Amino acid sequence: MNRALLTGDEAVARGAWEAGCRFAAAYPGTPSTEILESLATYPDVYCEWSVNEKVALEAAIGASLAGARSLAVMKHVGLNVAADPLFSAAYIGVRGGLVIVTADDPGMHSSQNEQDNRFYGLMAKIPVLCPADSQEAKDFIKAAYIISEQFDIPVLLRLTTRIAHSASVVGLEDRTETAPPNYEKQLQKTVLLPAFARLRHRELVLRLDRLQAFTEKTPLNRIEWGNPELGIVCDGVAYQYAREVFPDASFLKLGMVYPFPAELVRQFAGRVRQLAVIEEVDPFIELQVRALGLTVTGKDTLPRTGELTPAIIRAAFGQQSSEHKAEIDLPNRPPALCPGCPHLGLFYALQRQNIIIGGDIGCYTLGALSPHNALDTCIDMGASITFAHGVDKVLANQDPRSRIAVIGDSTFFHSGITGLLNVVYNQSNVITIIADNRTTGMTGHQDHPGTGRTLMGKETVAIDLEQFCRACGINEVVRVDPYLIKETRNTIRRLLNIKKPAVIISQRSCALISARPGAPKKVDAETCSGCRSCLALGCPALSFEKEKAFIISTACIGCGMCAEICPKGAIL
Ligand code: SF4
Ligand code: SF4
Repeated sequence: MNRALLTGDEAVARGAWEAGCRFAAAYPGTPSTEILESLATYPDVYCEWSVNEKVALEAAIGASLAGARSLAVMKHVGLNVAADPLFSAAYIGVRGGLVIVTADDPGMHSSQNEQDNRFYGLMAKIPVLCPADSQEAKDFIKAAYIISEQFDIPVLLRLTTRIAHSASVVGLEDRTETAPPNYEKQLQKTVLLPAFARLRHRELVLRLDRLQAFTEKTPLNRIEWGNPELGIVCDGVAYQYAREVFPDASFLKLGMVYPFPAELVRQFAGRVRQLAVIEEVDPFIELQVRALGLTVTGKDTLPRTGELTPAIIRAAFGQQSSEHKAEIDLPNRPPALCPGCPHLGLFYALQRQNIIIGGDIGCYTLGALSPHNALDTCIDMGASITFAHGVDKVLANQDPRSRIAVIGDSTFFHSGITGLLNVVYNQSNVITIIADNRTTGMTGHQDHPGTGRTLMGKETVAIDLEQFCRACGINEVVRVDPYLIKETRNTIRRLLNIKKPAVIISQRSCALISARPGAPKKVDAETCSGCRSCLALGCPALSFEKEKAFIISTACIGCGMCAEICPKGAIL
């Protein structure tokens, strides 16, 4: 068997391909993004960036009902967006196997919360598998397709950041071709009218009973006997950490955490002296162990927030930490927009305006930080526009400050569109600024409906934002180049005064994908007065030395924004 070093994300892609997956859809989001980027390099599987996770899952349900093994991939908060079809999918079931990957982000490395999506399985009544390394990521997704088809149910595969992004050796196998897709109308299965849905719910409960018997026996859950003094129940990456800390203990390693293998847990608990659950974030396993009436150590000692590490587990169990401490304490580096980022110009233009600004999810969320302080909120994808709408509706007559929403292009297509329609339909005076950097910047430059390219590299229709916003009913749609800061600021000021819904498309390619607009700039130290006005732009290539501005030439892309705002003309 060939072997390769794969990240968990790459292993999921490999496993889906080996399992004969024919359709895969996702919206990019750390730590799940690389799954589709990797899967798109394999033959015989259609891959797409859908406009959001709900669309991705609904499309995957369609492909599954047409008989194809299908995959929908998203980060943990994406499953909230896809929750609507998720719950129906459990009732409907599958024809070709359907696997939904959720990549959770304990520790919030790149997310607005650290929700634990194992609970979605419990609530939506679908099985949940949790791999503990890349080999398992590949094996489990193949097992997930078999379970999905055997029990007529979608399966949730839950990764966490450490599993998704760390690499380990994986055995490679050939692709198993599955039967070609063929669609069959099955009204009672797929039309969730109340009369049919009631039947499907009863039927789902029976499927869960069969899955309960399966989870008690499946090798996805395994006991590793060691010293019976301590028995540890765990899943995912927590298993790796717990194994390191307690090499001699007995383990019940759960690969299938829902339906919960209650009998297996009882048997295990009956043969160990002390029972502990070691798991990240929420007490998902622990709650179910306690519901069996068993005495267990868990979140009474372990933290409920953030990632676990062997050191945290050692400390929780009263052990001395032997973890190596880095000798050099690296300075904390706050996140910053890139040198020459077009959002810098936009945020500079928004500074010192007396406005309320809803922010959204993307690199531009950093506009909330100093020196811009240009955003009031970051709630979820698309919430900038709807937040501003809500504020406008209650403050319209008592707060003269205008309401603005700043949203990225990809985020606008993801879930800003409905907010904009709501502004038009329910008539609020919200100015929506689409920070259109021609890509999905934060997750690494994925295409979207505005770029004119698909994930599989095909040319496609590039949706024109201006026409689109006009079609939504916005009459005032203006395009600005955020590198031209004064013009951008003048446009914003003009629209703030007209008191009606408007859209500003702040359009300039992400500084990391566009050609350098110019040669690096320099500060003429003779002319520079040391006023520090240029630092308000927040460009990381700009710093201050000996009471004068200084430009790091290797970082500067020569965009010229700082030169435009220098009152002394000292930047050349
Ligand atoms: S804005 Fe111009 S004059 Fe002021 S510190 Fe920067 S380079 Fe010097
Ligand atoms: S020209 Fe000025 S704003 Fe643009 S990258 Fe260079 S230092 Fe930054």
